[in-house]
Amino acid sequence: MSENTSLSDTASQIADPAYRVSEGPTPQKVSKQAATLRVYNTESHTTSAFHPLTPGQVRMYVCGATVQSAPHIGHMRAAVAFDVVRRWLTRLGYDVVFVRNVTDIDDKILAKAAQANQRWWARAYHYERVFTHAYAQLGVIPPTYEPHATGEMPEMIALVKRLIERGHAYEVLDAAGHGTGNVYFSVPSWPDYGALTHQTSGTLSSNSLLPAQQTNTVAAHAVTTEDEDARIADEMGPSVDQVGEDKYNPSDDSDANLKRDPRDFALWKAAKDSEPADARWQADFGHGIVWGRPGWHLECSAMSHRYLGDDFDIHGGGLDLRFPHHENEMAQSRAAGWGFAHTWMHSAWVTAKGEKMSKSLGNGLAVDALLAHCSAWVARYALASVHYRAMLEWSDRTLQEATAAYERITRFVSAAGEYIHGQPSREEITTLSADNLEHAFVDAMNEDFAVSQALGVIFATIRETNQLMQNANTEQEKVRANLVQVRAMLDCLGLDPLSPVWKQEKTEQAPEHEALEALVSSQLQARQQARAERNFALADQIRDNLTAAGIVVEDTAQGPRWSVKKVD
Ligand SMILES: [Zn+2]
Repeated sequence: MSENTSLSDTASQIADPAYRVSEGPTPQKVSKQAATLRVYNTESHTTSAFHPLTPGQVRMYVCGATVQSAPHIGHMRAAVAFDVVRRWLTRLGYDVVFVRNVTDIDDKILAKAAQANQRWWARAYHYERVFTHAYAQLGVIPPTYEPHATGEMPEMIALVKRLIERGHAYEVLDAAGHGTGNVYFSVPSWPDYGALTHQTSGTLSSNSLLPAQQTNTVAAHAVTTEDEDARIADEMGPSVDQVGEDKYNPSDDSDANLKRDPRDFALWKAAKDSEPADARWQADFGHGIVWGRPGWHLECSAMSHRYLGDDFDIHGGGLDLRFPHHENEMAQSRAAGWGFAHTWMHSAWVTAKGEKMSKSLGNGLAVDALLAHCSAWVARYALASVHYRAMLEWSDRTLQEATAAYERITRFVSAAGEYIHGQPSREEITTLSADNLEHAFVDAMNEDFAVSQALGVIFATIRETNQLMQNANTEQEKVRANLVQVRAMLDCLGLDPLSPVWKQEKTEQAPEHEALEALVSSQLQARQQARAERNFALADQIRDNLTAAGIVVEDTAQGPRWSVKKVD
């Protein structure tokens, strides 16, 4: 890649309003269409008119990655879903302050680093880069602010103290009355606990109401049947395990009997001798100096407060974070006296044959493996073209459909470009206000980001314009106006095929990738031929040669696929 190319790409991204770093009130004009935006709020289970707390500005927080291993498409689905939300809010003329954190210290990072004989922070830095790269490849706009848990310790310690002062948290003391460094949130002290997921204190505390296998639970997970999201989350795998223990913020067994109530959850965890000496921070919660680290739930409450204040507009995350993570965030922040998020948005996950996708289901779901088989645009389309609250069933067909959409769209964009002898500039595409976009598209996006209907409008415009171009008498202006519409609508979904984001991908692939593609394809053809002739020794020899060269061959229903073996 030449230096000039990358510099001009960066410059054009900065000029792109979606990439602008927000500071203070918006210089942009909020479109008239913004008044009709309606958003589904998981807390109230209703879709209602959206009005930001500060006119002209939307402040939102989305839970980011725990950087413990490589991202899979489930992570990217949530990232793309909230990227579309952000792009649409920006297109409506709002100044969007978008905060997405990096969880770079937690139990899993420590455990996996120890297993792999790595420094915990080395592992966290490595996978943070992998995540950042994956986001960039898929055209996810970088957050306005991206706080790291390890960079916000004073805020977290201050929040723990604030909760203790207000009577909503307590430090466990030892026999001598000294602080142990284990601090818990007191669930009974907060009668509103359960407000997000509509669980009553009764169902949570009474083990007798739970199925037999849950009777020894610490934070039992019970939901009311009328709560559809909860039902789905429950069925598909909530972030509590089989016995109701909080997978992401496990409580220390040795402290289980020290908690005042089994539902109490850890805000701060005392350092253990078995943990690295540099994975602990000093604090004093009123009973002497202690060393420890934050519980996962606490991190987001502290970070959202620092960057977005007492009250902010939208809190987003994957559906599996709803309970207990978001329920606990909400309890902590409100018990601290803050209004916290006014609208909660949850993206559904990716399923394969009806089951929630996760790392354990196979390597084919890793972002790297996916992008070895399809372009980043196609991957993004596959992730973005389903409504954010609908489960995305992933199969071979998903990518086939996305590839077909790519061909239809790019064929149209180049034909229309030829018809009018050139493409409208990127600036013209990115600055077209929602007031000037196709009304049917705006209506779809304004109804809780209904992307399927919005795509329907895009394809209808493409069809209509293709017909217009059949007629040589059609005025160029008409075709031009429709081309601008199509590209601008696509850009709202992050899918303008002429965005510099996709150019970057091509630069990375050519020309070495093309040369490799030609060489490997000819080898795979020779292998297919050998197999057809039942010369299996030769077929195996070819495969072994490829393996030795670092090429992984996978036989699928569509024929062999290959990728370069990644060194992890
Ligand atoms: Zn969070």
